[in-house]
Amino acid sequence: MRSIRGRLTLAYAIAVGATLLIFAAVMLSASRRAAERALQSRVLNVADLASRMIEQGGTGVFGSVVVTEGPAPKLPELSPGLRRLLAALPGYLIVADSSRLLYESSAVERLQDRDKTRLSRAVFRSFSPDSAAGFITLDSTRLFVRMQFERSEARSPQLRVLAGESSESLELLRLDIFTPILVTFPLIFILSVIVAWGLAGANLQPVDRLIDDLEAIQDGRSLHRRLPVESDENELDRVAEKINAMIARLEGSFAGLRRFTADASHELKTPLTVLRADLERAMGSPNVAADQLPALEEALAETARMADLVDSLLTLARADEGRFDIHRERVALEPMVRDVADTASMLGEAAGVTVTLGEVAPLEVQGDPVRLRQLFLNILTNAVKYTAQGGSVTIALEKRGHEAAFIVQDTGLGIAAADLPFIFERFWRADRARSRGGERGGFGLGLAIAQWIAHAHGGAISVASRLGRGSTFTITLPASRAA
Ligand code: ADP
Repeated sequence: MRSIRGRLTLAYAIAVGATLLIFAAVMLSASRRAAERALQSRVLNVADLASRMIEQGGTGVFGSVVVTEGPAPKLPELSPGLRRLLAALPGYLIVADSSRLLYESSAVERLQDRDKTRLSRAVFRSFSPDSAAGFITLDSTRLFVRMQFERSEARSPQLRVLAGESSESLELLRLDIFTPILVTFPLIFILSVIVAWGLAGANLQPVDRLIDDLEAIQDGRSLHRRLPVESDENELDRVAEKINAMIARLEGSFAGLRRFTADASHELKTPLTVLRADLERAMGSPNVAADQLPALEEALAETARMADLVDSLLTLARADEGRFDIHRERVALEPMVRDVADTASMLGEAAGVTVTLGEVAPLEVQGDPVRLRQLFLNILTNAVKYTAQGGSVTIALEKRGHEAAFIVQDTGLGIAAADLPFIFERFWRADRARSRGGERGGFGLGLAIAQWIAHAHGGAISVASRLGRGSTFTITLPASRAA
């Protein structure tokens, strides 16, 4: 969840989830309150109805008072007619006077004894005219009850009417609401998360395009390109505008830097040539003292090295500026490879390295013969330079599909795996100490130039090497169709 798209979707999911939860809680509590009110009003209606029935029964409420023999007269009972009427009322109903139960509805009769006792105790003790309603928890159920205190006639004893209904209906209602919530809310949640993911993706597409465009500009050679800007109202377009301004400034400084390198190298060329000619003349003079000769020779060698460096710098600076035109013509590679192999043999002879020319296929490419020769020689001189006395260098030119492959294999020092990614970088040398001075003195620009020439011809250069085992450099160039 590190991407903006992931984070947006997550934030949206949390918002939707929380909204749904709050909505569900509000719905549940509101409907519960409504159901409670409905339950209370139903119970009140039953209690009212029962009271009214008793009231309207008037003197006929009680059946005849039977006076029996004995100490206490039989107390009055509700008349059978009233009992029948009360039996039509739903739920739990109890009618009592101040000390006795006069009537119990069938629902009360069906209760277990413990529950019945609890209920009748409630009739006599738990309620008063001031607090006439409430919940009673029985073993079998929980009841909402309402108590009415009635005086049916002035003379008759005070009557209590208790009506009640099980609160089960509240639980059922909760289920009724809960079940659809449980099914639909997760569905709504999943659907909205999918929609959010899609929307975030669609809205972030311009960012992806911006990244692609930026990637194309990343290398120093594409700094002339700009990001497309459609309007300045869109935030991303404003970002693109700022980046474009930054690229323009970068392009300016890069160009200045390249121009400086090119100009400086160019300006150094002439004095170096003059210096070289002067040194050669001084060495050839009959008046030169014998003890001055070594110093002059060293100065000449260093001047030659410096001239090489200036040449390489100029080549790369012009290549960077795009000022180097590659003169494209049909080039037969076979004679060129034989020629550079001869040069390499001569270098090898001096260094005690055997140079062998293997298979040379008759291939042609479109390219600049001078640059291609420079490319092959750079690789070959490295192979001879980094191979110890007694080692060997093998050269081959093969056809690989539609490409010509120039392969140089040596049994030399090799390159450590950790160094391989850097060998084409400018001024990079595997081991500065080992290549400094003497035969192997280089500047670390040869491979950079070789890579530029290969790329400029639509080709590539690759290397496989193991430290102490030797290296294989392969240059591939698109072969001409006729070849
Ligand atoms: P240099 O002028 O130092 O030869 P290059 O750009 O030609 O510069 O090569 C860069 C570095 O790559 C060299 O310093 C050397 O360490 C390594 N290298 C190039 N070719 C070979 C090779 N054939 N065998 C071993 N190391 C090589």
